[in-house]
Amino acid sequence: MHDVIIVGAGPAGIFASLKFASRPDLKILLLDMGPDIGERRCPSRDGGVVCARCESCSLASGWGGAGAFSDGKITLSPEIGGWLSDILGRERVESLISESDKIWLRFGSPTKVYGDDQDAAELISRKAKLAELELKTNKLRHLGTDLCRKILADMRAHLDGSIEVRTRTKVSKILAEGGVARGVQLSDGTILEARAVLAAPGRIGAEWLGEESRRLGIGLTRNPVDIGVRAEVPAEVLSPLTDALYEPKLKYVSKRFDDYVRTFCVNPHGEVITECYDGVVTVNGHSFEFKRTANTNFAILVSTAFTEPFKEPIAYGKYVARLANLLSGGIIVQRLGDLVQGRRSTAERVKRSIVTPTLKNATPGDLSFILPYRILSNIVEMLKAIDKLAPGVFSKHTLLYGVEAKFYSSRVNTGKNLETSVKNLFVAGDGAGLTRGLSQAAACGLAAAENVMKRLA
Ligand SMILES: Cc1cc2nc3c(=O)[nH]c(=O)nc-3n(C[C@H](O)[C@H](O)[C@H](O)COP(=O)(O)OP(=O)(O)OC[C@H]3O[C@@H](n4cnc5c(N)ncnc54)[C@H](O)[C@@H]3O)c2cc1C
Repeated sequence: MHDVIIVGAGPAGIFASLKFASRPDLKILLLDMGPDIGERRCPSRDGGVVCARCESCSLASGWGGAGAFSDGKITLSPEIGGWLSDILGRERVESLISESDKIWLRFGSPTKVYGDDQDAAELISRKAKLAELELKTNKLRHLGTDLCRKILADMRAHLDGSIEVRTRTKVSKILAEGGVARGVQLSDGTILEARAVLAAPGRIGAEWLGEESRRLGIGLTRNPVDIGVRAEVPAEVLSPLTDALYEPKLKYVSKRFDDYVRTFCVNPHGEVITECYDGVVTVNGHSFEFKRTANTNFAILVSTAFTEPFKEPIAYGKYVARLANLLSGGIIVQRLGDLVQGRRSTAERVKRSIVTPTLKNATPGDLSFILPYRILSNIVEMLKAIDKLAPGVFSKHTLLYGVEAKFYSSRVNTGKNLETSVKNLFVAGDGAGLTRGLSQAAACGLAAAENVMKRLA
């Protein structure tokens, strides 16, 4: 019998564990279906295949969760990276982010804060408004994938001995009796009992957690589904924005459809990479602290909130991404110039672009066969708007990779203490649809652990 079983060793599960570690009297077990941090290798990173479709995607699964290959932008603002303020209130989230920031710093996060220059932010914000864009200012630290991974490995070493960790261990069911959580069942049928369960399965486990919630009678609220592309431009094109802000968060309301379109996860001098969810290959991006490419990449995502009767936004996102996989074997890359001219990109045309693709295995093709007209039209409109702020974005050379999709669209209903309607079952992080970034996921883990400890007391 354990006191607490945590499902998922991403930032939410790890920061919860760091909090629990202050209570040596508690018996804590942390389970993750992926490998330990030192064993995490993505075959696509060694070239050759665009995605090897491993049983559990090493990029999203294992100690560190999606954080281990993330760009390590630690957002310090409660408005960015999730919906935690809706549940806990802005002030509480601010204080949790500050607590988690101190932990990141203790483990070696750089002290430099980007986005602190108010004058530069105001100037960019004014220019953005003239281009019909809204700039969300945001203070952040940047770890880069290399440092982020090291910090997560150091946290693993720090926790060794104070909590039990089992990797390559998949939870298939959350067990409850009489409306009270009593443990989990593993995929091999083993039953592990606990007084409380904290489910933090990340985006890769969002669909599973949604299914488990339905089975246990826990309510779900739908978040919008985010679908789009990753754009790649010469780093110089965005440097007027990225030098000052690192990550310019721009929002646009499209003319044709009145939809929200936004930039997400900007990676100056970064790389475009793939990730795999349940056999579906999607695109993402990151950058390093100690290595720079000539390009900057960023996602342009369109948020869609489905209304009745459709209840499966994650399935919709996967369906669209699967179409790109079907036509290309993985990811499609297209020059913006080809998209605008209504023709596919070929290897020859991509070679003529002044942007050398950092994702080597993408197939040149035509995104208009993949993305619904509404999404594509929104993306093209927003690229034109950004071009007014950073000339060169709407260039024929700009590369677009598809599909990028964010699977955190079902929010598990909880009380203010992050407990579900099943007593002693708590949730945290991206998988529960509460957060969508490292900082809020970590803050959410801290809050959940605190609430679990209160309950167990
Ligand atoms: C390439 C990339 C770049 C990113 N860059 C940034 C960035 O710069 N800044 C930022 O704020 N965010 C970034 N993110 C997002 C960030 O990584 C996530 O928001 C964060 O990791 C979420 O933390 P989490 O703990 O909720 O979930 P995750 O980190 O996704 O961890 C969940 C863990 O749960 C495990 N799990 C799932 N289901 C089960 C199960 N049934 N049984 C056992 N284990 C299970 C998974 O294996 C996984 O290890 C990036 C993500 C990626 C992929």
